[in-house]
Amino acid sequence: MKKKHSKIRTIGVLCSGGDSPGMNAALRAVVRYGIAHDLKVLGITKGYTGFIHQHWEMMDRKSVANIILRGGTILKTDRCLDFHKKSVRARAVKKAREAGMDGLIVIGGDGSFRGAHLLWTEHRFPVVGIPGTIDNDISGTEATLGFDTAVNNAIDAIDKIRDTASAHERTFIVEVMGRNSGYIALDVGIGGGAEAIILPEEKISVADIAQRVLDAIHKGKMSSIIVMAEGRKSGGSMRLADELWKKYKIEAKVCIIGHIQRGGSPTARDRLLGSVMGAKAVHAMVNGRSDVMVGVVGDREVLVPFVKTVQRSQKIRKDLIELAKDLAN
Ligand code: ADP
Repeated sequence: MKKKHSKIRTIGVLCSGGDSPGMNAALRAVVRYGIAHDLKVLGITKGYTGFIHQHWEMMDRKSVANIILRGGTILKTDRCLDFHKKSVRARAVKKAREAGMDGLIVIGGDGSFRGAHLLWTEHRFPVVGIPGTIDNDISGTEATLGFDTAVNNAIDAIDKIRDTASAHERTFIVEVMGRNSGYIALDVGIGGGAEAIILPEEKISVADIAQRVLDAIHKGKMSSIIVMAEGRKSGGSMRLADELWKKYKIEAKVCIIGHIQRGGSPTARDRLLGSVMGAKAVHAMVNGRSDVMVGVVGDREVLVPFVKTVQRSQKIRKDLIELAKDLAN
C-alpha cells in the first residue's frame, strides 16, 4: 500500500463532534491498517481539545482490541471552541509536527471537517476525514457511520411502542433524531410501518396529520404511529400533541426516543463501514491525499473534497416519501 517516498510515517487520529456507533470500528481500522503498513499511530483524546493540548499516546494493535462491538468512542469526543481561533490552530500544528505527527485523521461530522479543512489550507497539514454522524447529512457519501445503528435502534423502540399503542388503541407520536434532516425519520417511518411521517424537508399541516389519523381510524386501524423528525430543536412532538388535542380532540401520546438511538453496539453495516473507511483514510493519506473525506457511493469508497461535504446538496428521496404514504393507506 505504502508509496516508497511517502512523507507520512506517523499519523494522529481523533473523534470530534457528536459520537456515533461505528467510530470505534473506524479507529480500530486506522490503527491496525496503519501498523500493518509500518506506520505509527497516535490516538488523540477528546477531539480537537486533545489535539491543541497534545493529549495523545501511541496506539498498538492491543489498544484497539475488542472495541469493534462498542458504541461511543474509546478516544472520547468533544466540541472545542478554542479550535475556531487561528492562532490556536497554528500552535497546535507546530506542536504536532514537533512531536513527529505527519498528518491527522478526523472522525466526525461536517463541523469537524470545516476545522480539518483549515489545518490544510492554513498550514498544509495533511488531513483526511471519516464521516461519523448518525444524521447522514453529509454530502458526497451515501452513508455515514452510525446512521444504520440509529435507524435500527429507533425501529426497535417503535416496535415496542406499537405493542402498547395497539393494546390501548392509541395514537403515538415518536420523535426521532436527525437535526435538520429527515433521513432517520423516513427510514424509521417506512421500516416501522408508520401511519404518518413528519420531515423537515416536507411541509405538512396539523390538519393533514389529523386527517391521516382519522382516515386510519375509519379504515379500522386500532392504533396509529406518527414518526416525527426532531428538526432544529427537540420537543416539537409535544407541541403537535397539544394541537391535535385542542383542535381535533385526537389524544396522542408522545415518545421522544433521544440519545438511546445513538447508543449501543453498532450494526454489522456500521462496523463494516467503519473498517473500510478507516483503512481507506490511511491509504489515501499515505498516497499524498489531503483535504478529503472518505465516502461511499454504491459499493465503492470514494474521496470527496471537504468543501463539497459541507454543501447541502444531498436530497431526501421524494419517491420514498410517496411510498411511505401509499404503504400507510
Ligand atoms: P460535527 O463535527 O459533529 O458536525 P460540530 O459542528 O460541533 O460537530 O464541530 C465539532 C468541532 O469542530 C467544533 O467543536 C470545533 O472544534 C470544530 N469546528 C467546527 N466548525 C469549525 C470552523 N468553522 N472552524 C474551526 N473549527 C471548527
